[in-house]
Amino acid sequence: MNEIIQIKNVTKEYPGGILAVDDLSISVQEGEFVTLLGPSGCGKTTTLRMIAGFEIPTNGQIFLAGEDVTDRPPYERQVNTVFQDYALFPHMNIRENVGYGLRVAGMPKAQIKQAVEEALSTVGLMDKADARPGNLSGGQKQRVALARALVRKPKVLLLDEPLSALDAKLREAMQVELKHLHEQLGITFVFVTHDQKEALVMSDRVVVMEQGKIVQSGTPSELYDHPVKPYVADFIGNSNKLYGKVTSADATQVTVQVGEHTVQSTPGQTRFSPGDEVLATIRPEKVRLLATGEDAGNFSIVSGTANEVLFHGSSYRLEVEIGQNRLFDVDTQLALALGTTEIPSKGSVVRLAINPNMVSVFPIHEDNI
Ligand code: ATP
Repeated sequence: MNEIIQIKNVTKEYPGGILAVDDLSISVQEGEFVTLLGPSGCGKTTTLRMIAGFEIPTNGQIFLAGEDVTDRPPYERQVNTVFQDYALFPHMNIRENVGYGLRVAGMPKAQIKQAVEEALSTVGLMDKADARPGNLSGGQKQRVALARALVRKPKVLLLDEPLSALDAKLREAMQVELKHLHEQLGITFVFVTHDQKEALVMSDRVVVMEQGKIVQSGTPSELYDHPVKPYVADFIGNSNKLYGKVTSADATQVTVQVGEHTVQSTPGQTRFSPGDEVLATIRPEKVRLLATGEDAGNFSIVSGTANEVLFHGSSYRLEVEIGQNRLFDVDTQLALALGTTEIPSKGSVVRLAINPNMVSVFPIHEDNI
C-alpha cells in the first residue's frame, strides 16, 4: 500500500502561544479510513485543517501522494473537506450547490452536469437535484455536503465532525452509510470526532489524541482491548480501575494484589517488579458471573456484594462492592451468566471471573491517574 498522507513532525502554534498540535507525525495509507479521536481542544480539527491547507504548520511538513504541500493553498491539494455545518448556499438548488466548485474552476457545462449527477447518485439524492437546501432534512443536507466534496474526485476526503448536528438515530444510520461509501469509492477518509463509538464503528484505524499529541494509533479492537494508557481505556468505553501492588511479574504474567483479591494479567510485562504500585483495568462486559461452586479455570476470581442491580435493556449492570470501598462494575446478559439463568438480586454475594487476557496493567505516575 502507498502512503497518501504523511505528516512529519508538525507543530501548530496559534498567536498567544497556544500549542494546538505538538510535533505530530502520522502516515495514512491510500484507501484507509482513519479517525482522529480526542476530547475538545486536543488538536484534531487543527490537524485536519493543516492537511486541507486552511492552516499552515508552524513547523514540520505535510506530504500528499509523496509531494510536499506544506505551503500550498487548499485548491492546489487533491483533498476536499466536509464540514459539520454543511455550509450549503440557501439560494441555490442542490444541483447548483454541488456543481458550484466546478463552475468556479471553469469546467464546461456538460461535464459539470455529468459530474454533479454522478455525485448525487453516489449519495442517493438524484430525486432532490432541483430542491433547495431549506426543503431537505438534516441527513439529506449532510449528503449534499458529501456530494459537493466528492464531485471533484478528491484522493482524500476530510470530514470534520460531519454528523454532530444529526439526532442519534440518523447519526447511526449515516455512520453506516459513510462506511459503505468509503468501501464503494475506495478513496482515503480522514474523519474527526470526539465520539468514541462513532470512531470504533467506522474506522480502519483510530488515532487517539491528547494535547496536540498522538497517544495511541491502532485498529478499534486494539485500542479497546489493549489501551496503552488509562487515558485511552477511559476515553474509549468504560473501565474498572483497580489500584494495587505487583506481587510477581515475568514475560508471561503480571500478578497484582488488590486489597484481599489477586488479579492476573497476560501476557506479562517485565517492566514491572514486585512492590510496584499499579493500576489494573478491565472492561465491565469482560467480567463473567460465576455460579455457586463453579470453577473458573485460569481466570482470577474476585468476590463481593452486589450493591446495585440495574436493568439496561439488553444487559444488566451490577455494581459490586469488592471490599475497602472498591466498586466494580459488571455488565452481563442473562445468557452469559455462567451456569445460571438468574441475575443476582441486590445485596447477594457474587463471584466474578476475570480473564487475564482482558486485564491491562499500567504503572502509576502522574499522567496515568
Ligand atoms: P474541537 O472538537 O472542540 O474542535 P479539537 O480537538 O478539534 O477541538 P482544535 O480545534 O484543533 O481542537 O483546537 C486545539 C487548540 O487550539 C484549542 O486550545 C483551541 O482553542 C486552539 N485554537 C484552535 N483554532 C484556533 C485559532 N484559530 N486561533 C487560536 N487558537 C485556536
